[in-house]
Amino acid sequence: MDRRKFISKLGAAAGVGAVAIANSAHASKKENEIPEPPLSSVAKNALPPEFKVDEVTGEITQTPGQRTAFQRCFGCFDNCGLRVRVDEKTDKILRLSGNPYCENNNGAPLDLKVPVKEAFKRLTGDAGLANRATTCGRGTAATDAVDDERRITQVLKRAGKRGEGKWQTIPYEQALEEIVEGGDLFGEGKVAGLREIRQLDKEAAPGQPEFGSAANHLCTTYLSEHAPRSDFYTRFMYSSWGTRNVGKKSAYCGAQQRLGLALAAVDPLQGAWHAHPDWKEAEYAIFLGTSPGNSGNSLNSLGRQLADARVDNKLKYISVDPLLRTTPSANTGGEWVPIKPGRDTPFLFALMRLIFENHWYNASHLATPNASAAKLKGELHHTNASHLVIMDPSHPRHGKFLRCSDLGMATNNPVVFDNKTGKVADAETVRDGELFVDAELEDGSGKKVKVQSSLSIMRAEAMRTSLSDYAEATGISEAKLKQIAKDFTSHGRRSCVMLSTASNSADGFVTGWMTGMLNTLIGSHHAKGGAAYWHGFHRGSKGDRYELSKVEGGFSKKQLGISASREGKYELSTEYKTKLAKGQSPYPAKSPWMQIAPVGHAGEMLTSHANSDPYRFRAFFCWRNNVTYGNSGLSQKVIESLKDPKLLGLSVGIDCHLNETTSLCDYIIPDLSAHEEYAADRMWGAEMKGFSAGAPVVNPRTVKDKQGRHVCMERFLIDVALMLKLPGFGKNAIKAKDGRMVDLFTLEDWNARYLANTAMLCQNLPQVTKEDMRWSGAERAMQPLNDKLTATERAAVAAVLSRGGYYENVSRYSGDFLSGHKGRCLRIYNEAVTDYIHAYSGQPYPGIPTYRPNHFWNGDSWEQHWSQKEFPLLFSSYKSVIRSPYSVAFKRTAEFSPTNYVYMNVHTAQEFGLKSGDKVRITSPSGQHTDGELQTDDGVVKGAISVSTGFGHTRGFGGDERIIDGKVIQAIKERATGTSVNPMLPTDPTRSGASLLLDYWTGCTARHGVSVKVTKLS
Ligand code: SF4
Repeated sequence: MDRRKFISKLGAAAGVGAVAIANSAHASKKENEIPEPPLSSVAKNALPPEFKVDEVTGEITQTPGQRTAFQRCFGCFDNCGLRVRVDEKTDKILRLSGNPYCENNNGAPLDLKVPVKEAFKRLTGDAGLANRATTCGRGTAATDAVDDERRITQVLKRAGKRGEGKWQTIPYEQALEEIVEGGDLFGEGKVAGLREIRQLDKEAAPGQPEFGSAANHLCTTYLSEHAPRSDFYTRFMYSSWGTRNVGKKSAYCGAQQRLGLALAAVDPLQGAWHAHPDWKEAEYAIFLGTSPGNSGNSLNSLGRQLADARVDNKLKYISVDPLLRTTPSANTGGEWVPIKPGRDTPFLFALMRLIFENHWYNASHLATPNASAAKLKGELHHTNASHLVIMDPSHPRHGKFLRCSDLGMATNNPVVFDNKTGKVADAETVRDGELFVDAELEDGSGKKVKVQSSLSIMRAEAMRTSLSDYAEATGISEAKLKQIAKDFTSHGRRSCVMLSTASNSADGFVTGWMTGMLNTLIGSHHAKGGAAYWHGFHRGSKGDRYELSKVEGGFSKKQLGISASREGKYELSTEYKTKLAKGQSPYPAKSPWMQIAPVGHAGEMLTSHANSDPYRFRAFFCWRNNVTYGNSGLSQKVIESLKDPKLLGLSVGIDCHLNETTSLCDYIIPDLSAHEEYAADRMWGAEMKGFSAGAPVVNPRTVKDKQGRHVCMERFLIDVALMLKLPGFGKNAIKAKDGRMVDLFTLEDWNARYLANTAMLCQNLPQVTKEDMRWSGAERAMQPLNDKLTATERAAVAAVLSRGGYYENVSRYSGDFLSGHKGRCLRIYNEAVTDYIHAYSGQPYPGIPTYRPNHFWNGDSWEQHWSQKEFPLLFSSYKSVIRSPYSVAFKRTAEFSPTNYVYMNVHTAQEFGLKSGDKVRITSPSGQHTDGELQTDDGVVKGAISVSTGFGHTRGFGGDERIIDGKVIQAIKERATGTSVNPMLPTDPTRSGASLLLDYWTGCTARHGVSVKVTKLS
């Protein structure tokens, strides 16, 4: 038999083998036993294919006993599409592969109009390679989570001390009653229940009304990456219950960089940006703190995009990273440029300095001072590079733009020097402004005003530090820096610098801001081949069929006050006003305030709780989040404050697994796994507008309530809301666009409306046939939703579920720019940033990124507190290609990625008398430590260590022993292997009480570049 026919016979089974592991989808050891003799002489013991193609007629038929369906992957947060096949008899997933309609799985996704059966057929035979739709190894292994031997499916109540690992199973209704009503629940005295805790008429922090009501005594952390479910969760917490303390991972997962990058074009609080190269036309790219395909966006799409770009447009790229990762080492045309950890900002400043010195910037682009001039010149954006800023400290508007009205001119527009006339002019009226201005002008009253153009201010900052100092800071030679700056600017706009969340240093905000600035200097934003910001997705809560985010009688965020993590303006606080009233300087504030990045910092909320500043929480909910594992440097005081029932009365974990955080809770409410839930989520790494969607492909494994409904997060919160009569739940809880009121009693009530909102935002959805419904699994998926939707909504939701999402292929370019983007004013100087005042120093934030080596919240340099002699190495971490923070529960992931190592340069190791295989201890200046095994080679920058995250689960996911109903359940030692780095990371010695080390500007958590020592364990 020839190969083509062989593939055709096997159907998709042979066409979608993303990784070898994809072929071994067996849950238990017994099932893994290989039958002898083989089941088939051709396919041996491979699974029967999901369908067969008749070689003569071309007709395809499904394999009896199997069903196929679309879902979205949650092996990591990239949310690629999935095609799933399930054994009807056992209700078990047999195997996963990619969704051929989804860009993340298939670089050339099929048009949504292609019928599902036809789409499946195109996965076979000659067309199979072109239409190949893959998942990565981690995504394929994620099925293991459904029937994982340590999954929690029953309701648990602690049977010993909190965190002791002893549990009893209890009926769901008992847990509900106890959590809501409280009582002497553990034989340790009275515990306040939720009913008692939600006191809307009392202040959370008496005497400090800015912190809102005592309903804020409920703190919660949650998973923010699952749109339908996280929108449900936050609706309950913010709008119905009324707490402002809703924490998520962003602040310890790179928010500062995305917020900083956005400042290249928007004001603070107006969004976060995430850049990608325009892979189709990019000629040069700098990847900071990562390399393409290793972390960040979907590994599926990045691998393909990189491969195509290096072949089709001869992309050159560099990975500026403390660690050599797989892509630049695998002959992909990339180059590894080792950099000292946490020194990305001086690297970017060095490039900027060289660009200014050599005039390698795009002068015409930068000089375009208004939108009309941009249009005339064929530009998408204009910039404020030539706009003049008042630089006179005695001027009441020091640091703000000079306005025409300041000079007695008619408008309030910014002022520039006209390049043509050399005279001052209204920025809106000239074609080109002068880029470098340092002058003194007379204002309307005849008073002298010192001014500088935005670009002059930026240039002065870049030139303030010498190239040799930048080289010293980064560990990259001056010659190499020059070569990179030249390469970066030698491709016109077809070049960009981008970063991942990997470079979370104490000035990560400035790092992000500088990447935006460098892309502005060469005119790369939204340019063909430049820095791309793709199209996003439709979020159901934003749709208008049902008013999902409005709660009649509920709360707006503004009404809830400031969070315990002080994410707001210090100047509005009682502390500030009291100090002022006493004639004292209000600065420094007692504790950090996060003004530029109010992102729901879960770690800082818990730090506030540990310090009882401004108050302690009385209840803690944790849904699918693991803050104590994920947030670097969370101090032992925080852990103790979560463990001690006297400091925290009640805690509830809602999850599939006991993780490091939920294992500290009083109750565990079992939750749905990723393959048991409805989904409509953003895809990280997709260039098309769209989302991946899915429906439960197997029945939930969780226990049922008395009414026969599976217990899950939504069931639990709906029941709590009904018991407490919270607004927004129950009868007539949601308003429809046509004026009807609909109920919110069940999970399906929410999912139906959410998916309707999402689907009705989509254009040109396909007509769905009965055959589509059957082949895609949409028939089964729609059953619980049908009677909750109108006919129009039903058709739209079915269309979305029948294709596993919505993928809109808009035309890619409009002229020299990416299509679908409005022109903006790119900001060299961001005036709005200067409205914010640092709560310690009392100084306004500068309007440009500035280079100031690492310092603590009080402004002291790290060197003042951390001895370089005692802690001579710099620390960095990275994301494993295989592991995610929770993928240890995917059995096969743990099998083929069993442990991590402490990587160190071989010469550095020799200096310290260390060698590969040594058991070592990493200790930070705060005294915290973690242990691991050393590996040495040349793939780590000298003077540093690098350790992967996602390992060392000694207190979660079954890596530790637990006792349930008196029965000892042994630890699975493979899950506890490796090094968990976060507990070792240092705190801020200039803060009092429990503290985190923060990005100076935003208050997000910092971890990279900190000083550590590595010692051999005897
Ligand atoms: S990149 Fe993430 S979402 Fe995509 S297939 Fe892999 S694990 Fe799943």
